[in-house]
Amino acid sequence: MRQNKIFAAALLLLLFLGLLLQWELDWLDGQTEEVTENIPEKEQARVYYELYENIWKDLEYFPVPLSTKNPDAGIRFEDSWMFERSYGGSYGHEGTDLMPDTNVSGVYPVLSMTDGVVEKIGWLEKGGYRIGIRSVHDVYFYYAHLDSYARDFQPGDAVRAGELLGLMGDTGYGQEGTRGKFDVHLHVGIYVRTEQIPELAVNPYWFLKFLEARKLSYDY
Ligand SMILES: [Zn+2]
Repeated sequence: MRQNKIFAAALLLLLFLGLLLQWELDWLDGQTEEVTENIPEKEQARVYYELYENIWKDLEYFPVPLSTKNPDAGIRFEDSWMFERSYGGSYGHEGTDLMPDTNVSGVYPVLSMTDGVVEKIGWLEKGGYRIGIRSVHDVYFYYAHLDSYARDFQPGDAVRAGELLGLMGDTGYGQEGTRGKFDVHLHVGIYVRTEQIPELAVNPYWFLKFLEARKLSYDY
């Protein structure tokens, strides 16, 4: 009689352990499925991590230097990412506008934030006189509304970080040479590219905030 009870208890225990094992295996299976499903997203996160890291690797200087002649001359800017713009249709603002204290064209120097190569140069209806620099780690830096260029840049020209690109202006929003449709400022755009997206705009605001501590001085 006693042996029967022990046998029954052992049987129950085995049954219980079997159920536990089955439940554990089901749970593990579920976990594996979840991990597999997340792989593409994780890979994507990795891609974006590296793209953003490339921006940090290449940035060296704030694009507008301090003035040696007028130390009070300042630059204001806010996070206007995707604010509505309406010239030639309605769209979001893909950049940051650096506004000088004085609304004068052709005074404030615009410097390259990175080493790189000139990719685009010349007039754009929206951007006015612009220059686009492809940095070492494949990031496109776009400087728009310039008053003039520092020299006769050609696509393929090498540019050093801190090199003078031109002077800040108010060109754009019309045919070549159009000026004065808005206050003088420098529009900065940052674009990375992926296999699927050739021009992916990134908000320059926090990068510029970081670079505020890295201003060169210039005689102006
Ligand atoms: Zn802008």
